[in-house]
Amino acid sequence: MPKTIKKTVSKKYSSPRGGTERLSKQSKEKKTQPPVLAQKTNFQSLRGMNDILPVAQPFWEQVRRVTERLSRDYGFTRIDVPLVEYADLFQRSIGEGTDIVEKEMYTFTTRGGDRVALRPEMTAGICRAYIQNGMHVQPKPIKLYSIGSVYRYDRPQEGRYREHYQVNFDAFGEMDPILDAQMIQIASRVVQNLGIKAIQIQINSIGCPSCRREYKDLLVNYLESKKQKLCVDCRQRIETNPMRILDCKEDKCVQVSVTAPQSIDHLCEECRKHFKTLLEYLDELDSPYTINPHLVRGLDYYTKTVFEIWSGEEEGRKRSLGGGGRYDKLIKHLGGEDTSAIGFGLGIERLIAEMKRVQAKPYRPPKPKVFLAQLGDLAKKNSLKMFLELEKNGILVAESFGRGSLKSQLRVANKLEVEITLILGQKEALDGTVIIKNMKTGVQETVSADRLVEVIKKRLKSENVIIYHDHNYIHNHNQ
Ligand SMILES: [Zn+2]
Ligand SMILES: [Zn+2]
Repeated sequence: MPKTIKKTVSKKYSSPRGGTERLSKQSKEKKTQPPVLAQKTNFQSLRGMNDILPVAQPFWEQVRRVTERLSRDYGFTRIDVPLVEYADLFQRSIGEGTDIVEKEMYTFTTRGGDRVALRPEMTAGICRAYIQNGMHVQPKPIKLYSIGSVYRYDRPQEGRYREHYQVNFDAFGEMDPILDAQMIQIASRVVQNLGIKAIQIQINSIGCPSCRREYKDLLVNYLESKKQKLCVDCRQRIETNPMRILDCKEDKCVQVSVTAPQSIDHLCEECRKHFKTLLEYLDELDSPYTINPHLVRGLDYYTKTVFEIWSGEEEGRKRSLGGGGRYDKLIKHLGGEDTSAIGFGLGIERLIAEMKRVQAKPYRPPKPKVFLAQLGDLAKKNSLKMFLELEKNGILVAESFGRGSLKSQLRVANKLEVEITLILGQKEALDGTVIIKNMKTGVQETVSADRLVEVIKKRLKSENVIIYHDHNYIHNHNQ
């Protein structure tokens, strides 16, 4: 007998008494069914992919709100690009020798024969959209932000999942280092506005292709001389992606990195000036920064400035919440006009983990102050319309339409601690009225249904009633 069937049957039909006898009988009956059916009762999400349950949403909502607000304040507009792109796009932009492309991409062939991949990061798709849609004709800099999921077939660990979410900011068409400073400022603002106050900005310059060529030769020479002291992966990286070795977390590689030549000592004149000016701008900001010569980021497309935002409260627990840098050559590399660009991404799961650690507040949705209770068939029918009328006028109303008895509905109203309960009974439904009950004093009054909105607003002292404080939302909401 196939094991799978037995297992499922015992689970499904298990009973505290007489289990064994019934089990053997049922198993025999089930024997003709294919095992695939048995497996179907046991679906689980894929490893490293998580449900974001309602209970977790207040944290996510807070991240979305803070990000949207800041993106607006700094002149960014939203862009959404597909989850799936041609695999070549990522290979070409992120780079062949990188871990992401070599080991971590979800790549597959479609029924039509296209080789595609789930996006392992956001920037490549956004650049593709920028070129494809001729966005270069717009006034520069063009500032775009996005929120979405990315996919990496990695070993899942806390804050790093196979499906995870990012907020992403990119700006195109401006090479002045003031933009680098502004992007670092925005990244810090997002994190700090979420209540994560103690952060560290880590920055470095990895130069442009011309100064990097020279530096890479120096670095490779140095690494070759220490090859025996490197981890197995890094020995291979000498050929494929030597700068990435500076970023390796293995103890022995860290040892080698300490005395390795540093990119900032080998910048060309232009790159040196860019970095120096950036530091001058950063000195004007409140946030302290650290020059970290080992910060290289794992992607080929970066030039000049790279940076990360680290949580900085406890020693030994510093974690990167995200980062980014310049990618001045990428648009051209992908077939567009020569366009300088800079961007960063922050991992939402990491932000939330840090918010929880420092006990930052999640978003608190507005609580309804009004409850609508109904009694009887006609009242029940009218209650949907009454709810709509209140909702259209920005009054947040709670209800428990499925319940029949007034008592059980009032119990819900009490639990929600509303200030007013509206009672729509058979008589009121016929008369076109409704009872307004003040839950604190217990005082009841009957008003005409036409005047209901007006009276409620008066009773709740007008402004408190409007539930959606976000102006845009009210606007859309009432259309
Ligand atoms: Zn350079
Ligand atoms: Zn290593």
